[in-house]
Amino acid sequence: MSETMKAYVYHGPENMSLDIVPKPKIQEPTDAIVKVTTSTICGTDKHIRHGGLPEVEPGRIIGHEFCGVVEEVGSAVTKFKPGDRVAVSCVTQCMECYYCRRGMYSQCVDGSWIFGYMIDGCQADYVRVPYADSGMHLIPEGLTDEDVLFVGDILSTGYYGAEMGRIQPGDTVAVFGSGPVGMCAMATARLWGPANIVAVDIDDSRLDFAIRNGWADMGLNPNKVDVPEALRAMTEGRGADVTIEANGFEPTFQGAINSVRSGGTVSIIGVFETPQTVEMNKLWIKNITIAMGLVNANRIPELINLIKAGKINMKPLITHTLPLSKVAEAYDIFEERRDNAIKVVLKADA
Ligand SMILES: [Zn+2]
Ligand SMILES: [Zn+2]
Repeated sequence: MSETMKAYVYHGPENMSLDIVPKPKIQEPTDAIVKVTTSTICGTDKHIRHGGLPEVEPGRIIGHEFCGVVEEVGSAVTKFKPGDRVAVSCVTQCMECYYCRRGMYSQCVDGSWIFGYMIDGCQADYVRVPYADSGMHLIPEGLTDEDVLFVGDILSTGYYGAEMGRIQPGDTVAVFGSGPVGMCAMATARLWGPANIVAVDIDDSRLDFAIRNGWADMGLNPNKVDVPEALRAMTEGRGADVTIEANGFEPTFQGAINSVRSGGTVSIIGVFETPQTVEMNKLWIKNITIAMGLVNANRIPELINLIKAGKINMKPLITHTLPLSKVAEAYDIFEERRDNAIKVVLKADA
């Protein structure tokens, strides 16, 4: 008789449930089995819940941002042993293919094994981690799960957005979408020394939150001001040097494109469900770079160093913590933004 566990399973659009499923087993010598101690609900999970990412197949266990304790390792895993506390990258990486050798782990040809998407995820008691040696990162002594929880996804995604933006010291950076990913982009944009980080969102409370935590210097609400106009007014008529789209919807996409200066960079990390129109007839002459992509998650060790050194602290994003057994309620809190929910964290059931 095989052992069982609890897991939150996608059965089709608007149909997820906490089920009893078989506990995962080592399948390849490079696998590890991790007991999930802390996981999150991500914006991408909302897209999956509503059927917006049809490549996710019914029966898939959801969740891709987590920390845990190594339970068991395959025979080829050399860096970890049972009992190690780890933060885990949301994209798995073989380290041998064309893309992995170039640091583009998100494009790994060995399956694009993204947790809770192409393979079973972490909103469960246990998860199987392929290529454990490269995807897992030891949590330093003295740091909690919550300290490093976001390195596996949203903090790496925010960093990737800032990195693609090629920010220069003294720049004005505008981040469209002040959700958790947007706030991670603001916090990491600081690493390049911009003069001004501008948060853009229709929710004033989120703008205030980003400023209060030191991630943004100021906020703009598109329902109250003409954002491209306001950014031009701040930059001698030019527009933002870098815009980061962190939402995945038409208004933020257009805002990011319309607010960047000539020669600037639009960096897109939002997850889109629908095609977008780019007015090439107006844009071609402006020498704008539009960059986009799925997180490479290739800077997790450096992000952990920055957290350990007190240079980055995204813990204030955690507004709600629930046990895995209440995962359905946790999704509702997250989606309804109940009590100003920003990031909802799931803890292992005692
Ligand atoms: Zn995510
Ligand atoms: Zn690879």
